[in-house]
Amino acid sequence: MKDLYEYDKNLLIYKKRVLTKKERVLKIVKNVILTIGIISLINQVLISSSFINVIKNKIELLIMKNEYNKINNKINESSISMNKLFVINENIYKALFNLYNITNFFKLNGSYTDNKYEFIKNFEESDLIKNTHKNIDLLLSKLKINSIFLNTFEDSLNQKINVCNFTPSINPIKIPYITSKTFSPFGLRIHPIYNILLMHEGIDISAKTGTAVYATADGYIDCVNCSNTGYGNHIIIDHKNGYETIYAHLSKIVVKKDQFVKRGEVIGLVGVTGNTTCEHLHYELRSNNLPINPENYFGDVYNYIK
Ligand SMILES: [Zn+2]
Repeated sequence: MKDLYEYDKNLLIYKKRVLTKKERVLKIVKNVILTIGIISLINQVLISSSFINVIKNKIELLIMKNEYNKINNKINESSISMNKLFVINENIYKALFNLYNITNFFKLNGSYTDNKYEFIKNFEESDLIKNTHKNIDLLLSKLKINSIFLNTFEDSLNQKINVCNFTPSINPIKIPYITSKTFSPFGLRIHPIYNILLMHEGIDISAKTGTAVYATADGYIDCVNCSNTGYGNHIIIDHKNGYETIYAHLSKIVVKKDQFVKRGEVIGLVGVTGNTTCEHLHYELRSNNLPINPENYFGDVYNYIK
């Protein structure tokens, strides 16, 4: 305890003064009260700070819960869109490819057990977090299934396109319209040279010598002038799917054996070679070696020629 001094007016000096007992007790009591007050104040400040933190955490939790719910709503909307996409895929499969059984392979199976997310527990929002995980898993599964579906769809479509490209489907020469004067049909007829009833295994299209002749589908040149049946200069194209086409009485041939040709590609020119009385193209279509009427396989040549 510090010493106290008082001024002696008579001696004009400071003299050390000894505190009375009462004064000592009062001083001690004042110090104790002051200490208790300071401790209380510090305690109050700490309690207030902790309370603010609790409130802050509660608000953050509410915001997080709200955001989780928004995310789950978006996931559910995406999941519904995935289901619709799956149904569309399934319908395309059935309509275009007659694949009724394959869709069973892709049926959605969204049963999940809770075990996978068992580690998420004892939180205030454990169920919300677990459900979000499960919703995302289900969405990813649907996405994967639709992805597999589309890949298979693309493969099947490419196969179909390939088959279509190799199927004769256009006129072999440019003919804006066909009349009885420009066209001799498929079937039995009186042969113009032999004058007897014979099967006409193709069609004759009147055209001037030098008119371009087009391949009616993709294929490989199987034969150039390889037959002595009155065809004259002729080409046979193998379309690799049971179809063959024959182009006869040509004046010129511009392709070679084994060459690959595209639908609409020029392969020769109309002429009057072989057993014929006038310039025209004799065109035959065969399916598995049997002649069939090419008229049923005519499409618009203008869409294909270059
Ligand atoms: Zn003919």
